[in-house]
Amino acid sequence: MTVLTSTRRDCIVTALSAEQILELDQKHVWHPYSSFTSPLLPFPVDSTDGVRIKLKDGRELIDGMASWWSAVHGYGHPKLKEAAHKQIDTMSHVMFGGLTHEPAVTLCEKLVKIAPNGLNKVFISDSGSVAVEVAIKMAFQYWISQGQASKNKLLTVKNGYHGDTFATMAVCDPVNGMHHMFDQVLEKHMFVEAPQPAIHSQLKSEFNESHIQSLKDQLENHHQHIAALILEPIVQGAGGMRFYHPDYLKRARELCDEFNVLLIADEIATGFGRTGKMFACDHAGISPDILCVGKALTGGFMSLAATLCTDKVAKGICEGEAGVFMHGPTFMGNPLACAVANASLDLLMTGEWQQQIARIESGLEKGFAPAKDLPQVADVRVIGGVGVIELKEPVHMPTVQPMFVEEGVWVRPFGKNVYVLPPYVISEEDLAFLCAAMVSVVKKLPIN
Ligand SMILES: *Cc1c(COP(=O)(O)O)cnc(C)c1O
Repeated sequence: MTVLTSTRRDCIVTALSAEQILELDQKHVWHPYSSFTSPLLPFPVDSTDGVRIKLKDGRELIDGMASWWSAVHGYGHPKLKEAAHKQIDTMSHVMFGGLTHEPAVTLCEKLVKIAPNGLNKVFISDSGSVAVEVAIKMAFQYWISQGQASKNKLLTVKNGYHGDTFATMAVCDPVNGMHHMFDQVLEKHMFVEAPQPAIHSQLKSEFNESHIQSLKDQLENHHQHIAALILEPIVQGAGGMRFYHPDYLKRARELCDEFNVLLIADEIATGFGRTGKMFACDHAGISPDILCVGKALTGGFMSLAATLCTDKVAKGICEGEAGVFMHGPTFMGNPLACAVANASLDLLMTGEWQQQIARIESGLEKGFAPAKDLPQVADVRVIGGVGVIELKEPVHMPTVQPMFVEEGVWVRPFGKNVYVLPPYVISEEDLAFLCAAMVSVVKKLPIN
């Protein structure tokens, strides 16, 4: 058994050279937002361990991205590996229609336990975008079941990001999302100003009622057509890495109640401790009607997501004409992914993440301090385990990506934001190295 595993591993690791991998990659393989006509060469990876990404050419990079918010415990955590090995020998997958199993039910129980109050029912799915699709469908089916089918629009805020599928694209930021290009095929929803006040380092204003006026007006005037307000609580991720005041979220919750509109919180990026609270909603002490989680759910091991809702929403849906919630993916409740997610949540439930995030927060603040006065930099901001150096100009990826690799770190900026969200287990030394490398790269960027 051991021999077989190690032989197979050697075989995987040594089978293709970096050049051969790149050749096949260029021939056949799409990457996120990639082109076959002017391709950017990706870096072939050999393996990952802890906070290190080891490239095929032997270089080791300190990881600042946690593979897009997901690898919170670092790569290859022994507890997650053990859970995966154990589960794969028992049952890797079985259909969820008409069948159930321990990994799924214990996972749902744990999610309910740590989620904001009142979110009692869990729909497990395969990816973040699907979790948001499910949330949107829940909201629409709820109102259809209540005999209020005219509540068929979504309300959202600018600078949001909710996924790449069609229903989710339609609630991404209309300017930096894909609305322009897919104008003819996207559902038209309602947008209000991005949540205010933004919490930037230079700008720490208090919340007042004028900050939520555009949301309030929209709800007042159109609530009879609005099924739900969907937003990312406190931290807006891929739509601009904006942080905003918890009181905005608190008032948004009150306004949704006042105007009989459901609140969907998309915590796919912010969930599981990243912002310094278990969920970003906890900064405002609110519970949404529907909550989406994903990314860090399995600690970055595999794809899994979930949509939680209240008893009111669940009951409302099931009382309707259909009698059931109309959704059911093939790989729903995948036991292997659920087993790893259980192990990841067990690690989180020890509470150690709180010290880890506090350490990252102060390490980022210290490490980014020299960036504040650079002529290339517009703003530097940190919340929990998220650090952003916002530049005055968008980065030029083909030049900037290799610069980070040269410095020995994995940082993947987008637009004007050079940001990191390292694995929670990163050491102080590695974090200092990561920050210094970022500052060093930013210093070398052209000044306009
Ligand atoms: C990443 C993300 C999604 C989409 O998740 P995928 O797993 O990439 O489909 C949705 N919402 C937010 C806030 C995200 O950060």
